[in-house]
Amino acid sequence: MIINANRRVYLDHSATTPLDKEVLSEMLPYFTEQFGNADSVHSFGSDAAFAVDSARRKIAEILGVKSTEIYFTSGGTEADNWAIKGIAEARKKKGKHIVTSSIEHAAIMSACKQLVAQGYEITYLPVDPFGLISPSDLSSAIRSDTILVSIMLANNEVGTIQPIKELCEIAHSRDVLFHSDAVQAMGSIPVSVSDLGVDLLTLSAHKFYGPKGVGALYVKSGVKPDKLIIGGHQERTMRGGTTNVPAVVGMAKALEIAVRDLEKNYKHIKDLRDYFVDSIQKCVSHVKYNGEIKNRLPQNANFSFEFIEGESLLLNLDLCGIACSSGSACSSGSLEPSHVLLAMGIPPEIAHGSIRFSFGKENTREEVDYTVNKIQETVNKLREISPLFAEFKGDIKSV
Ligand code: PLP
Repeated sequence: MIINANRRVYLDHSATTPLDKEVLSEMLPYFTEQFGNADSVHSFGSDAAFAVDSARRKIAEILGVKSTEIYFTSGGTEADNWAIKGIAEARKKKGKHIVTSSIEHAAIMSACKQLVAQGYEITYLPVDPFGLISPSDLSSAIRSDTILVSIMLANNEVGTIQPIKELCEIAHSRDVLFHSDAVQAMGSIPVSVSDLGVDLLTLSAHKFYGPKGVGALYVKSGVKPDKLIIGGHQERTMRGGTTNVPAVVGMAKALEIAVRDLEKNYKHIKDLRDYFVDSIQKCVSHVKYNGEIKNRLPQNANFSFEFIEGESLLLNLDLCGIACSSGSACSSGSLEPSHVLLAMGIPPEIAHGSIRFSFGKENTREEVDYTVNKIQETVNKLREISPLFAEFKGDIKSV
């Protein structure tokens, strides 16, 4: 195999995206000249507070909500934790049952796990082989003591988009609040809070070419989660901690650009992804394309390459300068097969050979050609030394 260390192709946009240059220039003054603390009463503080207010208004306007319904957080993980734990605590007198799905991000899964230790009950809805949740399963799961349903808008590993509007209507018809993690969807597909009807929604800026370490939780007026982070009176007393002014400014700018360019980027990214998927299916044998075909994020392509380990393919592609992922970024330190793929009924040995490629606005067709070529070369090489492949071909008799 030829190693090309000079060549770098980034196909891991679901893990994070590069900061947009327009976003960076909007943020820079708030690191230097306009460095004030947004809570200070003097003019340095009020300049910073004005920037934070403008960012909040811009985000609210894009989402079609009131600016008082947007709370800044340190990212998607905090917003997810806050939604789950905050509603659980606030509504515990009504009940201690929460419904979520079996394919949520670790930020939801871990919060739910912690609640179980505190006497809450969690129902994890199953998904079909494409990663879709069935509305009738949700309907049957809701009980008189259910206080919250939390289902992600789009999955980070396979890109499946859930029918949130319909699921939300079911929850509301039974007087249950609805939270959705829109971290992967925001900036990739149109997201309208009023159309979805959700009570809480999670965002994270670094997934749409904004800075890392900043996100937001939309909380519908009248819905009152308990606080997660306590301290000062920031975020209208709901979340303590000095506001990260440059990050918040950057998040608003990134969202503005993402929505402004959504149509153009959607087409470009989807065309590249479809071209990639077609090419892989033509050039590589024994591959399974995981996830929904139609209700799917444009950037996501998740493949299981049979008879090889995803990690080996990932590392070999990295040597060729190609960045992709063998699971979600947060769990890629683990060698366990993905809980998402297992929930979709993919056998563990096939889930082990799965790789997520996620495209972005700066990728090119030429990069796709280079990647397909390297995948083909690497998969062939790994299969040559794979006992499973030898057994499959009949070269080795199993004992
Ligand atoms: N939710 C989903 C679906 C994600 O993909 C991620 C990040 O990978 C998160 C939540 C966590 O967001 P953050 O990285 O901002 O903490």
